[in-house]
Amino acid sequence: MAAKTDKRVIVFDTTLRDGEQSPGASMNLTEKLEVARALELLGVDVIEAGFPITSPDDFEAVRAIARHVSRPAVCGLARCVPLDIDRAAEAVLHAKHPRIHVFLATSKIHRQYKLRKARGEILRLAVEGVRRAKAAVCDVQFSPEDAARTEPEFLARVVEAVIDSGATTVNIPDTVGWATPEGFHALIDYLFDRVPNISKTVIAIHCHDDLGMAVANTLAAVQAGARQVEVTINGIGERAGNAALEEVVMAFKTRPDAFGGCATGIKTELLHVTSRLVSRVTGLAVARNKSVVGENAFAHEAGIHADGVLKKRTTYEIMDPKSVGLAKSKLVLGKHSGRHQFRQRLKELGFRLTHKDVDTLFFGAFKELADRKKEVFDEDIVALVESEIVRQPETWRLCGFQVATGTGGMPTATVELEERATGRRLRDAATGDGPVDAIFRAFERLTGVTLKLEDYQIRSVTSGKEAQGEVRLEARRGDRLISARGVSTDILEASAKAYLGAINRLVARKKVTKGKARRARR
Ligand SMILES: [Zn+2]
Repeated sequence: MAAKTDKRVIVFDTTLRDGEQSPGASMNLTEKLEVARALELLGVDVIEAGFPITSPDDFEAVRAIARHVSRPAVCGLARCVPLDIDRAAEAVLHAKHPRIHVFLATSKIHRQYKLRKARGEILRLAVEGVRRAKAAVCDVQFSPEDAARTEPEFLARVVEAVIDSGATTVNIPDTVGWATPEGFHALIDYLFDRVPNISKTVIAIHCHDDLGMAVANTLAAVQAGARQVEVTINGIGERAGNAALEEVVMAFKTRPDAFGGCATGIKTELLHVTSRLVSRVTGLAVARNKSVVGENAFAHEAGIHADGVLKKRTTYEIMDPKSVGLAKSKLVLGKHSGRHQFRQRLKELGFRLTHKDVDTLFFGAFKELADRKKEVFDEDIVALVESEIVRQPETWRLCGFQVATGTGGMPTATVELEERATGRRLRDAATGDGPVDAIFRAFERLTGVTLKLEDYQIRSVTSGKEAQGEVRLEARRGDRLISARGVSTDILEASAKAYLGAINRLVARKKVTKGKARRARR
């Protein structure tokens, strides 16, 4: 229940459901659990963990997240179909605060072409769906899909009926990114006017960014009285994505005058680290100029701007970089830094790791890096820990490689891999268009896996000539798009790690799919 005058806005995060639907963004269970834990630390109120009916993997992920987090509500998505709802109920059963989210399209175009159902039938199914979910859990959310294109008077009837049936949250989605801020504000206003029982529910909004207005539409709806925002980290999601959590949250924080003092429970100091985590596990890079969390969001290039910021930060900076967890890059550790210093710095950077994990997984790698690089910056530590945390189950490990290249020559790479299951070492060589291509071809010869490289990017993690290079790539095999990254002080090694990571990822997925097929036959 939320009145228009309430100041607290509920943050419903759908990074793990809508966000995961972005092409190339799928996450494995370990990655999902890590993101869920990060979202809990960040302070989101509801985690939409998945769509349990769609696959056994999705079901397992929702169930695992339900057990894994305790403060936020854990929500499973379902169509207004008994089987969907029962499956969602089973998945969220063990959550401390379970929620079921049922949806049904209400717009004319969806009714006519997708569902082939008349208005009366839609109303009946919506009511039955909410009742069925309500029999399983107290906290039930309903979404009239494509609400932004639904006839307002019919939308009002649906909203009233589902509230009567027990929906504790009613979400008004702009499923296709069609709305404008004024239009959406007017629609929410209309609902508050026309739906007599609206004060018994929380009105939520869910906006897509097809025209770049997702955040603006979300904020307009809050001004009109909505009190739950459905958002994703970095704005990832179907097509052009969803409203970005970090942007909505920082708008409230930076402009309380414009949004009536509305606020969320988000710990904004964790925005940057959470953004990095999601980018890493999904492989979707954050644009440098992305609001709030982009690399350039707080960089001042123009002389006049830089000079102004030095004199007084607020001349050109409306947000304090520290408030979103961005600290200036500084020299923190070196060759002689001890375990305790390293652990302490990890903690300050937002990693929650056990002493044992730090010692066994990261300390050796840190020492090795400090030997190679002398000066170790915060970004280096983040890159190092990130590459270890979500290490994929490895089928092959890189033992070493050697490259011969030069102008006019024939770039040649020799690589050695270890097959993890058997411990067998394999070695082969290949030529290519360049040294990176030669390494990739040698991997293909050894593993028998051929990938089509769709995107390949190198950037430096920190500045200076000893900086670590980060390689991100996207590779395709059939209809599978796989993202991977590799970090090293040597860009050829970073490229090799990224490509082998993509191969390992592809092979790991195949095993899961086979396992699934076996289960289905039983
Ligand atoms: Zn959506």
